[in-house]
Amino acid sequence: MQELISAGQKLLKQLNDYGYRAFFVGGAVRDFYLKRPISDLDLVTSATPKQMLELFPASFQMNNQHQTVLIKCDGYLFEVTSERGNSLEEDLQKRDFTINSLAMTENQEIIDLFGAKSDLDKQVLRSIDPVERMTEDPLRMLRALRFQSELGFKLEGELANVISQHCELLEQVAMERIVKEIEKWFCGPYCQKTIENKTNQKVLDALPLLSFTKKELSVLSTLNRLPNHDQSLIWTIIYYIKGWNQSTAPRLPLAKVVLKEINKVLHFYALRKDLDWGFESLYDAGYTIAQKVEWLKESLGERFIAEQSLKTKWQQLTIQDRSELAIDGKILLKEFEQKPGVWIEECLRKAERLVLTQQIRNEKEALIKELKGSFNR
Ligand code: ATP
Ligand code: MG
Repeated sequence: MQELISAGQKLLKQLNDYGYRAFFVGGAVRDFYLKRPISDLDLVTSATPKQMLELFPASFQMNNQHQTVLIKCDGYLFEVTSERGNSLEEDLQKRDFTINSLAMTENQEIIDLFGAKSDLDKQVLRSIDPVERMTEDPLRMLRALRFQSELGFKLEGELANVISQHCELLEQVAMERIVKEIEKWFCGPYCQKTIENKTNQKVLDALPLLSFTKKELSVLSTLNRLPNHDQSLIWTIIYYIKGWNQSTAPRLPLAKVVLKEINKVLHFYALRKDLDWGFESLYDAGYTIAQKVEWLKESLGERFIAEQSLKTKWQQLTIQDRSELAIDGKILLKEFEQKPGVWIEECLRKAERLVLTQQIRNEKEALIKELKGSFNR
């Protein structure tokens, strides 16, 4: 983290040396003040995107964010945005919540123009001109829920009223943006607490796709206790709770690999039921998927296998991957003197089963002999 901050400081200094104002802003300064870990550092500057692109060779622009330039410095990538309204003050005033309106100089001096420190100390989420802030970008109402879940803060009264009155505007927000905030909301340590609040309930009700019952929410809000909250696990649990499958799930902006993993975990969850993992089912699932099935079971309050026991079981498998098999397609072609075909896959599958169930040792001669016998070739 110190390395990231040092790299950011270097970039600030470079911008200053070129004659531009430049500050750290947003979530990173908030987290710095709260002494929380910082994962990414955002910068704001008086330089225009064009000026930045000219000054820094290792820089490029993102498609959808015209005012932001990505600049690489000491191996880290920084989002550097031009000041809105050509002043730091106006930029900070237009941020979603006061707690995100801090700025910080290269020398780590914090600039607090809107009472952010006091709100952070009091643990409240407040906005300057909340009606304007929430209506100009309704996603902020969901971000409010997300920050409550991450930080355990309360909504300031006026902001809560505004959100209650305007939350149906969330319908207009792009699903891509909603999905990201939902994921962060689930993972926050105070998720459970957030759903007990009436305003937050309204926000959730305004997301038609996800409208949850109280019972569903209470299951979901236990997710943060799991040791893993990656995207596919979050959505696997949501899929399960909503009873969705490949064909009934609404179209969500999730990557193909994530969707594939969700379906795989649900498939093996259904297979596993109350049975323990067998050698074959564990092998077919693979360790990562099997572990996720256990986490799903844990979040549903079902009996699950602890990580260490699952690992031991996995290590006891005679093979963990087809590449460890003593035979392969090439060997089969040579031994059977047949044309390539589906029979190769059948043979390899059969060999895997024999080895996994320890009926045959994982040795070439033994396997070929057995396969020749059973396939009558
Ligand atoms: P995280 O720790 O999850 O990165 P963050 O506060 O940094 O949280 P980001 O989504 O990374 O949140 O946004 C960075 C900063 O940009 C925020 O702190 C906020 O000041 C500003 N920001 C981001 N999205 C919005 C928005 N929709 N409306 C207003 N300001 C926003
Ligand atoms: Mg951030």
